[in-house]
Amino acid sequence: MSKRIELETRYGARNYHPLPVVLTRGEAVFVWDDTGKRYLDMMSAYSAVSHGHAHPRLIELVREQVGTLNIVSRGFHTDKLGPFLERACRLTGQEMALPMNTGAEAIETAIKAARKWAYEVKGVAADEAEIIACTGNFHGRTIAIVAMSDEPQYRDGFGPFPAGFRLVEYGDIDALEAAINGNTAAFLVEPIQGEGGIVIPPDGYLKAAEEICRRNDVLMIADEIQTGLGRTGKMLACEHEDVHPDCLVLGKALGGGVLPVSLFLARRDVMEVFTPGDHGSTFGGNPLAAAVGLEALNIMVEEDLAGRSAELGDYLLRQLRAIDSPLIREVRGRGLFIGIEIESKFAGAREVVEALMHRGLLSKETHETVVRLAPPLVIGKSEIDWALEQIRDVIAEMDRIRLAS
Ligand SMILES: *Cc1c(COP(=O)(O)O)cnc(C)c1O
Repeated sequence: MSKRIELETRYGARNYHPLPVVLTRGEAVFVWDDTGKRYLDMMSAYSAVSHGHAHPRLIELVREQVGTLNIVSRGFHTDKLGPFLERACRLTGQEMALPMNTGAEAIETAIKAARKWAYEVKGVAADEAEIIACTGNFHGRTIAIVAMSDEPQYRDGFGPFPAGFRLVEYGDIDALEAAINGNTAAFLVEPIQGEGGIVIPPDGYLKAAEEICRRNDVLMIADEIQTGLGRTGKMLACEHEDVHPDCLVLGKALGGGVLPVSLFLARRDVMEVFTPGDHGSTFGGNPLAAAVGLEALNIMVEEDLAGRSAELGDYLLRQLRAIDSPLIREVRGRGLFIGIEIESKFAGAREVVEALMHRGLLSKETHETVVRLAPPLVIGKSEIDWALEQIRDVIAEMDRIRLAS
């Protein structure tokens, strides 16, 4: 084992199971390990690196802002926060935004907003508000958020959990309608479940959910931390069904691959339930993060990263579906957000991921059976063709071994 891996393993908590590679540098769609070997990053930190590693415009901006002003308390105004929030609201059609750092914090913010809105605006009795989430969801790792999870490993050993959450089957519109009652504050949903295994709900599900929420005075909160900002071929994945959620959560790519930057965005009457002292974050909305967030959004639009994602994702999806092997159970995705489901009778996703790593392609398995491909959106067609070659070869090799044994 390399000394560096040994050190990390000895002193670091084992809450991850990293591939045996030590990365030291990144540029655009590539990263390099400590032996100088180059890899194509088809994982991009769960979409946090949609702009590619060290995007020149972001690095230039960070250099300048770092030497100017980085952190001040939200107890003061800055020249950077307003323009960032305005841009984010305009791009997403939301009225107001609240800045946090990580995705989980922005989801917590959404939960607090929805509950307070239920009491103050909707008129739900004290402590009775309910939030509906979906089976297979992933919204982060805090105690309240794992309270919504149905993944045993995310919960086991971490109870007791806060009450007020209810689960419905993802993709089942009748289940949603049946779960709503007078105390329902919000329906929290991922337009495509990322950690759940790139799960796409039936056509029309989000549109129908929007209609049901509106009819019942329930807030629709879209968690677009992973699907948002071009990942699925549109600025927001909700746009595929022309859905306009009441509240929206962004993170990951919003930080331009440089910093953690997240936002909870909402309708004015929802955001206005917050008054000074209700909620906050030392680092949320700091001038460095706000400057990075604004530039990340500008680049997203000016480089048409959503358009690239749509075009190249379509191509990658078609080519992957054309691979004829019993090892591949299904290929699904939208834009450059693709999952290859491996037939578990024959192999695990981890085997495929490790074989790809040896060939210089980094990806990550999710749920043991799905190989996730979500490269930086700045990737080019030639790099995608190279990746396809590696995937075809790995699958063919595993087929040969399987038939020989
Ligand atoms: C990653 C993710 C989160 C949590 O974000 P963190 O920054 O890791 O806290 C929440 N929701 C979705 C859909 C995600 O993919």
